Amino acid sequence: MNIEQIYKDAGALLEGHFVLSSGNHSNRYLQSAKVLEDPKRAAILAEALAEEIKKSGIEVETVCAPALGGVLAGYELARALEVRSIFVERKDGQMELRRGFEVKKGEKVLVCEDIITTGGSAMEAAKIIESLGAEVVAFAALANRGFCRREGTDITARPECKLPSNVPFFALADFEFAMYTPEECPLCKEGSQAIKPGSRN
Ligand code: ZN
Repeated sequence: MNIEQIYKDAGALLEGHFVLSSGNHSNRYLQSAKVLEDPKRAAILAEALAEEIKKSGIEVETVCAPALGGVLAGYELARALEVRSIFVERKDGQMELRRGFEVKKGEKVLVCEDIITTGGSAMEAAKIIESLGAEVVAFAALANRGFCRREGTDITARPECKLPSNVPFFALADFEFAMYTPEECPLCKEGSQAIKPGSRN
């Protein structure tokens, strides 16, 4: 399965001149939510991710996603794995498990995102889950931005990666983009204006 082509077909892989959330500039941008716009496409991606997790033999009882970005990916992955789906969400800046969701002591939880960049939100979710006595057995995302090392590849995690090296991380593909500081950006030098797609656009 050509994951990059699927993202392109969905209009989720943008080409142009963008300001990333880090403040750096790039000629590509992943608008992750777009790949989940078509539920059939979302299910196909989640099935492929579930296959990799099943092959690893890791037992998962529950998928937990950090809201809002991870919820759809987490829900589809839970469906494909035939397990429970829950999510954590921010209240006053702090991630919390709300809405009556609970985890049992020792419950095996996989933390799922639509995309993992440095894994900051995924780690916040993992910390809540572990503080409630459950066990985080794996991380997963549809797309990996190349900062963290996913299972089955031999790239080295970059220092920015916040995921622990002793917990497996599953993803369908690495999306590594050229990144420039605004001062060094060749696109800026050509006179084009960077746009900030972000989740609010
Ligand atoms: Zn630029």
